[in-house]
Amino acid sequence: MYDDLKADVCKANLELDKRDLVIYSWGNVSGIDREKGIVAIKPSGVAYEELTAERMVLVNLEGKVVEGDLRPSSDLQTHLELYGAFEDIGGVCHTHSTYATIWSQACREIPCLGTTHADHFHGPIPVTDEMEETEIASEYELNTGKMIVRRFQGLNALELPAVLVANHGPFTWGRSPSDAVVNAVILEQVARMAYGTLLLHPGQKEISEPLRDKHFRRKHGREAYYGQEKEE
Ligand SMILES: [Zn+2]
Repeated sequence: MYDDLKADVCKANLELDKRDLVIYSWGNVSGIDREKGIVAIKPSGVAYEELTAERMVLVNLEGKVVEGDLRPSSDLQTHLELYGAFEDIGGVCHTHSTYATIWSQACREIPCLGTTHADHFHGPIPVTDEMEETEIASEYELNTGKMIVRRFQGLNALELPAVLVANHGPFTWGRSPSDAVVNAVILEQVARMAYGTLLLHPGQKEISEPLRDKHFRRKHGREAYYGQEKEE
């Protein structure tokens, strides 16, 4: 069942490894079939070289396994919370990629310091609040999702498809599992560049709003003109 979804999710997970965003079995990607209300996600603790499409775990929106012999990623409830809140997304990705995690651990949002960032993310990458003891003690993964959703009140999740969970690491999302991974790869690059920029010049300010909007809008939305016309 859901062979295409499982294949897409498996491929997206393998891409994380290929792009050097993960070591061992860290990181996870999921994808959703909105019509059927089914999510495919990486199994928990399985090394990337052992991942196959057949080993992806299918769950319903309550998190109940509907197909697969393995346990789903322990971050499943965070993914489900994001699918519930951001209705246009089709894939979610979580890594502990080095530079994005450095910013998360420092509990600092990534300022938009240049057009590389602005081409892709419409504003600084938000960081969540730190978790309360009670949120950690029970339903930790669900509460992580809720904290992200809370942070995104008033923000457009598709224009800003990334978050830094304080003390932890990044989550990204997109219209598909592979989109979510592309966003994780670009987030890592942006995090690395921002780190270097502020090291070289600690007082560097964010780019101006007109320059930021120009770069974002020429690639995204109705007015986009970057690249080639897409055939319908
Ligand atoms: Zn994690």
